Amino acid sequence: MTIQWFPGHMAKARREVTEKLKLVDIIFELVDARIPISSSNPMLQDIIQQKPRLILLNKADMADQRLTKKWIEAYEDRGLKALAINAQAGNGMKEIVKAAQEILHEKRERQKAKGLKPRPVRAMIIGIPNVGKSTLINRLAKKNIAKTGNTPGVTRAQQWIKVGKELELLDTPGILWPKFEDPETGYKLALTGAIKDTLLNMQDIAVFGLRYLEENYPDRLMERYELSEIPDDIDHLFDHIASQRGCIAQGGDTDYDKTADVIVKDLRTQKFGTITFDLPDKDPV
Ligand code: GDP
Repeated sequence: MTIQWFPGHMAKARREVTEKLKLVDIIFELVDARIPISSSNPMLQDIIQQKPRLILLNKADMADQRLTKKWIEAYEDRGLKALAINAQAGNGMKEIVKAAQEILHEKRERQKAKGLKPRPVRAMIIGIPNVGKSTLINRLAKKNIAKTGNTPGVTRAQQWIKVGKELELLDTPGILWPKFEDPETGYKLALTGAIKDTLLNMQDIAVFGLRYLEENYPDRLMERYELSEIPDDIDHLFDHIASQRGCIAQGGDTDYDKTADVIVKDLRTQKFGTITFDLPDKDPV
């Protein structure tokens, strides 16, 4: 599902999240581990205000493990807890509950001291489209979807999913828009499947991908396309890939559109291994 975001949609999304926010103790902010910043919502902090949050770096199976570790440290430096997870395989699920309890520990101790009965931590998942929200909810839910009645102030009856004894998760996630701040962010969102190809020029996405590989993963680029060195001229690089992969138009010229498709597909299907496109030193938290 890819949503076209217009100002009206953004305002509505913000309103919906703000409504649900009242029901929970903590936010699980789901981002793509390959692009933790590009897949985050630019207004999130402003929307959630003081509400505690746990950052979940999802699809960690497709991200560069070394950089995921660095990202977790970068968040920690900012006083934020982040976890690497794989919602599809169900890796990291236990850690989510544990981390949420740790984040809320002091608050819960204060409540206990006041004589308030401890109740399960209530959480909601927030993230941009395609980041894995439904997959994670299904993972955590197993079969424990509990029906509850109407909650005042919310139009639809909210259902809570019991995750063990200690956590209840809102069954519908908060959906917010991604960043559209610069073309580079767009290319990264396209390469990770967060936005539709048709929104951007395929050749531009491929050029961005090649340049990124050249700078950050040159050995993998050379290996995949059997290069002894990387040509300076991007057209020459396209020509080489085209002849290697049979992307030749009638008359023998390089078919640049077809070549771009091949490059983007290779990037999306991890043909260069696991790659992270946001760098903690360049794209700080
Ligand atoms: P939503 O729009 O945020 O609810 O995203 P979905 O849950 O529909 O997931 C979008 C796509 O990402 C689906 O094809 C999922 O199978 C896939 N996906 C979700 N989590 C992971 C993960 O941790 N690893 C991988 N490799 N794929 C995932």
